Amino acid sequence: MRIIVTHDVDLLNTRDHRFEAFLVKRVARSLVEGAAGRCSRSEVMQRVREILADRINHLDALIGFDLAHGVRSTFFFGMANGLHLNYSREAAKPWVVRVMAAGLDVGVHGISYDDPEAIREEHDAFQALSGLDRFGNRMHYLRMSDRTLGCLARAGYLYDSSVESLEAPFRRDGSIHHALPYSRRKVYYLFVPSLK
Ligand SMILES: [Zn+2]
Repeated sequence: MRIIVTHDVDLLNTRDHRFEAFLVKRVARSLVEGAAGRCSRSEVMQRVREILADRINHLDALIGFDLAHGVRSTFFFGMANGLHLNYSREAAKPWVVRVMAAGLDVGVHGISYDDPEAIREEHDAFQALSGLDRFGNRMHYLRMSDRTLGCLARAGYLYDSSVESLEAPFRRDGSIHHALPYSRRKVYYLFVPSLK
């Protein structure tokens, strides 16, 4: 069995969410979980402290964990905003560089899923920002329409990692395929049942 490990980078900084109820809900949920005994008091306090100190992403810890355990993961970063993904491309760039420097893969956490021009714009922005030519996409909230995969292929994406139920996911037939065919390391397939 092969397993794909991906990290969708939805949040980078507390300040990106200061005008939303999002963080309040996060604190409230932590308090409820603490009261219900699902996490310890110190865990609840740590979560609240992290929000107040603008430390809501744990990318460094994730990178370190994946490296320590030999997990060849892919981190997907947003190049546009929507559905609580609020950070800027400038804010994402140093993290993209950091993940790449660690030897792990990066790609786009797509926001646009039904607008060919917007999809291409996100692709091109990431290409310029990362300096990469070959990278894939994984949609924020895994949104998808009938046109999405075709738009992604025409924009130049190497693969899509949003859908888990494509038939013949490894076929390159003009449509996007579903593997991570980076030649410099093992090929990782997303859809295990039809693994050939
Ligand atoms: Zn997301």
